[in-house]
Amino acid sequence: MAEIRILPQAVADKIAAGEVAERPAAVVKELVENSIDAGAERITVEIRSGGMKYIRIEDDGKGIPADELEFAFVRHATSKLREIDDLFCIQTMGFRGEALASICAVADVEVITKTPTAEEGVYMTLHHGVASEKQTIACNSGTTMIIENLFANVPARMKFMKKDATESGYVADVLARIALSKPKIAFKYICDGKEVFSTSGDGQLINVILNVYGMEFAKGTIEVNHEEHGVKVCGIVGKSELARGNRTKQTLFVNGRYIKNHVVSKVVEEAYRNILMTGRFPFFVLNIELSPEMVDVNVHPAKTEIKFANEKEVYEIIYHAVKNVLYERREDEITDSLVEKTEAYAPAKASKTVTQYPNHEYIRENLALGERKIIAEFIKNTIPEDVKREPLTFHSPSVENHEGKTDSIEIPSVEEIFDAEEETRIVGQLFDTYVIVEKGNEMFMIDQHAAHERKRFEILRKDYIENRVLGQVLLVPIVMETDNTEKQVISENIKLLENLGFAIDEFGGNSVIIRETPILADEGEIKSLLSEIVTILSEGRTSGLLSFEERMLDTISCKYAIKANKKLSTLEMEKLVEDVEELEKSGITTCPHGRPIKVVFTKREIEKMFKRIV
Ligand code: ADP
Ligand code: MG
Repeated sequence: MAEIRILPQAVADKIAAGEVAERPAAVVKELVENSIDAGAERITVEIRSGGMKYIRIEDDGKGIPADELEFAFVRHATSKLREIDDLFCIQTMGFRGEALASICAVADVEVITKTPTAEEGVYMTLHHGVASEKQTIACNSGTTMIIENLFANVPARMKFMKKDATESGYVADVLARIALSKPKIAFKYICDGKEVFSTSGDGQLINVILNVYGMEFAKGTIEVNHEEHGVKVCGIVGKSELARGNRTKQTLFVNGRYIKNHVVSKVVEEAYRNILMTGRFPFFVLNIELSPEMVDVNVHPAKTEIKFANEKEVYEIIYHAVKNVLYERREDEITDSLVEKTEAYAPAKASKTVTQYPNHEYIRENLALGERKIIAEFIKNTIPEDVKREPLTFHSPSVENHEGKTDSIEIPSVEEIFDAEEETRIVGQLFDTYVIVEKGNEMFMIDQHAAHERKRFEILRKDYIENRVLGQVLLVPIVMETDNTEKQVISENIKLLENLGFAIDEFGGNSVIIRETPILADEGEIKSLLSEIVTILSEGRTSGLLSFEERMLDTISCKYAIKANKKLSTLEMEKLVEDVEELEKSGITTCPHGRPIKVVFTKREIEKMFKRIV
């Protein structure tokens, strides 16, 4: 048996470095946070070759006193935390005294620093954690850190680095978020000699958005300013046009500190339900202010994940904050849009009550956009109770023809619009790929693969969340050859794979044996499913349309789902149509990748196409 030994300090430091400084962006984040803690008003970040070769952080903060300089690089050396009790009231960005020690263990570091009261500055270099003699140097107050050859002495970590452009993108992303959290600080980001962005430090969030994300984003924001039970939620949420296929434009701060919290993202997205298509993620920059005792920031070494003391209440407050502003905007827009649309029919003299009725076309269009609920509510609030029952007609002066007769515009009743009992008739299957359905005054085509994949995905996701995915036991287990990295990824993620329905064991050499799988399929299919999942696992938590877990669940659903180019029986088609209706009821109209499940043609549109009507 191996004897227990205490790790040599250098090894322990490298391990710790892996937690704090996992890639250049993480290093930049730690150093910039130090500059912020030092009260800097201007911070410049320059990187070369994705940050692997060179990172420079320059600030005009309070500097490090010359006689304390080497302590700054010692583990658990911090000027920010004296007593353990302080942990619960952290106001500064850093406090563990770990960042500099970790970074200098895996890179070459140069530091130049001067406090405002010192006559001259001090210069020191560290090679893999070993400091050189200090020298005096003439410089401005503040601190400059230069980090070179990151991970040069940790080849294993080096392997995990992506292309330079990807790493510099991560740096830009981290810095953008920090800049958004500190509109009063002027940031400049230079990558390979070119300035990527700079902010003015004028204190205006909207100006930071303009400088970092550009005009389109700056124009598409809605302000949030909400306070409830001592919790303040402020910042901006983006108009629906700014939604993206991933969450990279979502930024959350808690007491000014950049935080990742999946639940908060979900809560905000929930507030957008019925406004955004599934698979589209809203843009937001929100800061949640609450008393520091209500936050535990000590959950994650890089301090990017936190826990709230009374989570549920905080989430509810965030939901209200966002929902309120979106709803206000929605109502304004619907009214504006209706007035606009109906004013095209009705001249100004038309009475207001008439112009406020939604027209049929408008309702149809918005139904197609999945806004049933909002429209339903709108109708409920605007059409008097007694006229809701009957299809309603009203006279619009604008369509008065030359003979002085008036055409009437039909307003459908709420029941007519939302009536799901309308009869559904399956017309047939087209190209063995699309199911054609007639329903009331509509004809629609369903993409059989998209629909089935989504349905499977929803079921699987629910089971996964509730920890209920059941593996199918294979009668004959499958032995699969893997390469070294694949095998490592599999053994590191055995538990996660189990939750997805796989039971896998080692099988000598580079092979593994698959005993259970999430779906029953032939050997080739199961092997390719596992290797696709391993690829997702090794890519890690990159952003994209779907979350990391969702991508794996989707890979499984996709394999299981009815393919295109497959003939379906009437029974199968009926089941599919039912599934689609069920998905629509929960607002789902696309496959997990955002492609539409169904396209709709109204009878009117078809009649127009054939010029039966104009
Ligand atoms: P922490 O930030 O958790 O205290 P670090 O290892 O990041 O730990 O930094 C150690 C110490 O070095 C800090 O507590 C601070 O006193 C000092 N320091 C680091 N960077 C700067 C800077 N840019 N300006 C002034 N002081 C700094
Ligand atoms: Mg720090």
